Amino acid sequence: MKWTEFYKHESCGKCTPCREGTFWLVQILERMVHGEGTEADVETMLDICDNILGRSFCALGDGATSPITSAIKYFRQEFLDLIAEQPGVKRPEQLDDLVGAQA
Ligand code: SF4
Repeated sequence: MKWTEFYKHESCGKCTPCREGTFWLVQILERMVHGEGTEADVETMLDICDNILGRSFCALGDGATSPITSAIKYFRQEFLDLIAEQPGVKRPEQLDDLVGAQA
């Protein structure tokens, strides 16, 4: 999510796919980590990335897609588990608590 927030922040807004796509990717990821994501969001993020990749003026747009597409490629089940709120899947705030407890 930090990567995507970075790309959203750094997007200059010249190209619609990058300007709108990075905004929507952050919106979807925020929904997911707050327990309001849906399984369709995973495919929606891939669709958004398809619309950014190769359709942006500079490398920032293309670069914004890699963290999302790679994360879904290698961790799709973790996205689905987070969405389903299955036991054992730690939410970001729970991970902070675990790190704090170990320190
Ligand atoms: S791809 Fe580059 S030029 Fe286009 S909006 Fe993003 S940062 Fe600006």
